[in-house]
Formats: sequence, C-alpha cells, structure tokens
Amino acid sequence: MMALGLLPSAPAHAFNLSGDGKGKHVVILGGGLAGMASAYELNKLGYRTTILEARNRSGGRCWSIRKGSTNQEGDGPMLTANFDAGLYYNAGPSRIPHHHQLTMHYCKELGVPLEVYNNVNEGTYYFSEGKGPLSNKKVRAREIHNDMRGYMSELLAKALDQEKLDLALNKEDAAKVIEYLRAEGGLDIDKLYKASARRGYIESPGAGEKSGKIADPHKLADIIQSGLLDPDFYNVAEYTYELQMTMFQAVGGMDNIAKALEKKVISSLKLGTEVKSILNVPDGVKITYKDKQGEHEMKGDICICTLPLPILSNVNHNFASEVSRAIDFVPYIQTGKMGLQFKRRFWEEDEQIYGGITHTNNELTQIFYPSYDYLSKKGILIGYYNFNEKAKTVGDLSMADREKLALEKGSLIHPQYKQEFETSFSVSWHKTKYNMGGWAVYNSEARKTLYPALLKPDQNVYFAGEHTTYLTAWMAGAFESARSAVAAVHSRVAEQRVKYPVTSNNG
Ligand SMILES: Cc1cc2nc3c(=O)[nH]c(=O)nc-3n(C[C@H](O)[C@H](O)[C@H](O)COP(=O)(O)OP(=O)(O)OC[C@H]3O[C@@H](n4cnc5c(N)ncnc54)[C@H](O)[C@@H]3O)c2cc1C
Repeated sequence: MMALGLLPSAPAHAFNLSGDGKGKHVVILGGGLAGMASAYELNKLGYRTTILEARNRSGGRCWSIRKGSTNQEGDGPMLTANFDAGLYYNAGPSRIPHHHQLTMHYCKELGVPLEVYNNVNEGTYYFSEGKGPLSNKKVRAREIHNDMRGYMSELLAKALDQEKLDLALNKEDAAKVIEYLRAEGGLDIDKLYKASARRGYIESPGAGEKSGKIADPHKLADIIQSGLLDPDFYNVAEYTYELQMTMFQAVGGMDNIAKALEKKVISSLKLGTEVKSILNVPDGVKITYKDKQGEHEMKGDICICTLPLPILSNVNHNFASEVSRAIDFVPYIQTGKMGLQFKRRFWEEDEQIYGGITHTNNELTQIFYPSYDYLSKKGILIGYYNFNEKAKTVGDLSMADREKLALEKGSLIHPQYKQEFETSFSVSWHKTKYNMGGWAVYNSEARKTLYPALLKPDQNVYFAGEHTTYLTAWMAGAFESARSAVAAVHSRVAEQRVKYPVTSNNG
C-alpha cells in the first residue's frame, strides 16, 4: 500500500546525524534487527562496522519458518521444518502496529512490501475447557462480546434510570448516556438486552422468505460460570494500544524485513561467529569469538552489544557490577509457537474464519489463522502461541508430544484437524539457543533498579536490543534502540574529534 502511495510514508522521528565516523571500527554483537540497523546507520555515517552473529542466518527473533528452516533447542538435535514451499509462519514477530513508525519507516526505506494483518476477527472462537454450560463448546467471539456489551449496558442503563448512580449528571445528560448505552449494548426500547444480529445468526438471511434467525443471547450466569470472563478471554485484542487495527505484516513473511536489512549490511556481517568474551581495554574493546576454524580475537574502537541478556549472562566480560547485575537479573518471558500445516484451509472453507485469533484457556492459549493467501489450497495455522507456565509445560514436552497436544486440543475446536493435518514445527523461545527467552519483561522495580545500567555505555561498550527500550517485545524496540546507540556513539566520536582534531594529510 505504501508502494502504491495509498499510505503516507512513515515519518520516523528526527535522526539527522551529520559528520562522519572516519577510521572508527565499531564491532556489533548480534545480527538481529538491532545489530543490523545499528550497522546500517553507522555505515551511512562512514564508520567501519563488523557484525558478529552466532547463527548461520541473520535476523535473530525476526524469523519465519519455511521449508528447510532449522532450529536447535538446548543441546537437542538440529530440527528441520518440512512445510511445503511457499507456506510459512512467523515464529517471532507476526504483526506491526500502525503507530510503530520506525518499523514502518525501515520497511519503506528498505522496500519491504506490507499487507494488512487481520488481528481482530469477531468470527473466531472462545473455547473454555471446564464444567460450565458453555464450556467445551466453541463460541464465536462476537456472541460473547455482544452479549457482554448488552448485559453491561442494560445494568448501567437501569441504574442510571433509577438515579442509583451517584454521578454528576443532570436529567438531560443522563438520558443521553442512556441513549448511548442503548446503542452500545444493542438494547431494545425498554432498555433490555435481547440480542441482535450483531451476535450472529442461527439461520442466515437470504433470498425470498429467508429473513434470517437471530440467535438468543447466552445467559450471563452461563458466560460467567463457563469461565468466559476469566482473564484468558478478556484480554480483548482490539483494546490494547499495540493490537489496535490497522496492523501490518511483511508480504511473504516477516523475515523479509531482516533479509532486506541484511542486503544493506552484508559486507559487515560475519555469520557463524559466536561471541565468547567482551572486554573493555584502554584503547577500545577486545572481543573473542568462535567460528568453525576456532577462537579468534577482534579489536574495535567501540562495541554495540545487542545480545539478549540470558545469552550475555553466560558471556565473559569485565563490565561494572551494576551492568552485570542487570544482565543477570532482568527476567525474560517463556513463550512458544507451533505451526501446523493442513491440506485444506477448513477454517476458511467450513467456518468462514479469515485471519484473527481463537482464544482458549488450555495449553494452546491462542490459535492464529493466517492473514495471507486467503482461499488458497493449503495453509499453516499457528496451533498454539502461549506464555509463561503454559509455554513452559508445552516447551518441556518432546517435539512429538507437543504436536500430539496441539492436535488433540486443537481438534476439540476444529475436528477437521485429524483429517487434514500434514506436518508441524515448533519453537520454544526460552529453550532456543542464542535467545533463551521471548523478550525482556520488566516490572516497575526492575525498571528502577536494573534497567538504567543498560542505558549508559560501559566504557567502550554500548547496549542495544529490544531489552533497552520501553518497546520490549516489539521490532520497534530493536530499531529504536539501534538509533539510540548509534546517536550516542556518534556524539562521542564527534566530541572526540573536536577535542583531538584529526590532522588532514595535506596539513
Ligand atoms: C514469539 C515472539 C513474538 C513476537 N511478536 C512480535 C510482533 O508481533 N511484532 C513485533 O514488532 N515484534 C514482535 N516480537 C519482538 C521482536 O521479534 C523483537 O523485539 C526483535 O526482533 C528483537 O531484535 P533484537 O535485535 O533486539 O534481538 P534478536 O533478534 O534476538 O538479535 C540478537 C542476535 O544476537 C545473536 N546472538 C546471540 N548470542 C550470540 C553470541 N554469543 N554471539 C553472536 N551472536 C549472538 C542472535 O543469534 C540474534 O541474531 C516478537 C518476539 C517473539 C519472540
């Protein structure tokens, strides 16, 4: 859409650095988005950069699983995905909020086409395992959303009508609020909630006499007793700032962002180089890394370290104690996803679900439906996307048992699974080598006591990565952090030049 001029370009906030970094060698640790964006911006300013990336691919968490993708969890075997060519799922980032200007900016600058990602779909399900009257049934999200809107509006309208609420409203204003509540909740003239077409039909309207039949609302007590008001379900997707539509994804897989960035920094990128030690030395930094040939040392003037903290915690360094403490104690989320390839897009053909998320209270937590290639033949669902304890439980299973669980639990919602399933591939980020966590999770105490140490350089080492921002868990965090680090490095280098002006060759 941006390419067609249908969307305005994303104005990234000011980043107009001038001058150049002539002669300065910046060693960047980690070739994820933060590392590559740092190199990209530094190269533009004339620095010499080297990116040391442990994996044999760049992108880090910005990764889409396709045919031939490999992953290693812990010291387990290297596993290879066996999806059909052309199919993929995003193991890491899958959606871009419209207000993440820097992510949008880089997509535009790097020529990565975007398409709308459908994050909100009233046609998906709530599925609550349990003992309530609506448990173990798939209930369309639109039914619960509209029933709850209706019941809550009815309660409030009644209370307002009887002047039972101690609100600073005169009679006229109260009447207006009641009108609003009638519209909001779909209440009838008597301010009662009796359901409307908003919550769907049990018989669809059609030609001739077919006027359609509206389903009765679920009883409020049934909704409550079935656990459908529990937090598992009431994280209403579209309410969260980051999840409000419009959302985007990179056409063909989110890793196309990383691939486009890689092209720009290819000459700086050293894949298959695992950093073992980071030492501040009087005239810069000394990095030890290991590749197929063995251990090597690299000297640099300055270092930008983007290694995720659970990894950095096991790397030898001589940082100050408060930096070391932050590295060791900032917690990371446990999270996992599994892609399931099916022969047929039954969720579209049989159930009219095009994108969006089904929510469950079991180990699956969420099922994501693909927002690409609608109505094509095959497709990959994200069979679970879970967090914390549920992610740990599932991540502790063998790959075969993860698949079994995803299929068993998923079949409760989509019985078509059994007939249509072909192959799966899962990623537990907290067990995945070179990440060992989904993203940094700061509580307010950690923001106060640990976070500040990562915002300053430790002598010649600057820190970047999503964990050095308030945009943790987002690509925008990686990009923002890269710009912050580059700006800080450049201001230091520029300052040094003023203090110790470089003498030019021609005197
Ligand atoms: C499950 C999941 C869902 C997400 N969903 C979204 C989303 O929908 N939208 C969104 O915008 N963001 C999302 N994110 C967040 C986004 O992926 C990250 O914030 C971003 O990619 C982090 O980039 P980074 O460069 O900071 O870290 P990384 O991508 O982790 O880069 C660090 C790099 O360091 C390398 N490395 C590690 N150890 C060493 C070593 N010893 N030596 C050398 N190199 C090493 C790693 O291989 C990696 O390439 C999601 C993340 C996850 C995990």
